[in-house]
Amino acid sequence: MLDLAKTIRDVPDFPVEGILFKDITTLLKDADAFREAIDRLVAHYQDQEIDLVAGIESRGFIFGATMAYLLGTGFIPIRKPGKLPAETERFEYALEYGTDAVEIHKDAIRPGQRVLLVDDLLATGGTASASAHLIEKLGGEVASIAFLIDLTFLHGRDKLEGYNIYTVLAF
Ligand code: AMP
Repeated sequence: MLDLAKTIRDVPDFPVEGILFKDITTLLKDADAFREAIDRLVAHYQDQEIDLVAGIESRGFIFGATMAYLLGTGFIPIRKPGKLPAETERFEYALEYGTDAVEIHKDAIRPGQRVLLVDDLLATGGTASASAHLIEKLGGEVASIAFLIDLTFLHGRDKLEGYNIYTVLAF
C-alpha cells in the first residue's frame, strides 16, 4: 500500500519560525496519493448517515468537496470573516494572541441535518471546534469530524471532546 505520509512535505519555519508546516500540495499533485487519501476518508463514511459535508477554508474545501461528491451529499463552506456574500453566522475563538473567527451562511443547514465537518489537519482544534459550534448554532448535528492529518502532540482532540473524530494519518 502507498505510504501516504511520505507524500506530505515538511516545511520548517512556515508561516512563522518554529512551526513545522505539513504541506499537502505534494500529496495533491500525486494522483495515486490523492486518490488513496480520498478513498480512505470516503470508505470510513460510506455507510454512515451524512446529509451534508462542511469544509473549512481553504484546504478543507479540497478534501470536503471531493468527499461530498463521492458520498452523494451537498457541500457547504465554512470561511474566514468577510468572504461569504449572503447573511452569515459568526463564531469567534481565542488564539494564542488575539482572536479569530469563522463564518457560515445562515441558510446553509436545515435543523436536524447531519453534517460531516472536514479539514486537512488537526492542530490545536480551535478552528474545528469553532466550526462545529457554527453547525450547531444553525441546528445541525455534527455527525463526525474528519481530518487527513492529526498533529497528536498538540492534543487537538481534547478540544473536540464529545465529537466523533476520524483521522487518516497521525504525526
Ligand atoms: P487549529 O485550529 O490549531 O487546529 O489549526 C488548524 C488549521 O490550521 C487547519 O486548517 C490547518 O490547515 C492549519 N494548520 C495548523 N498547523 C499546521 C501545520 N503545522 N501544518 C499545516 N497546517 C497547519
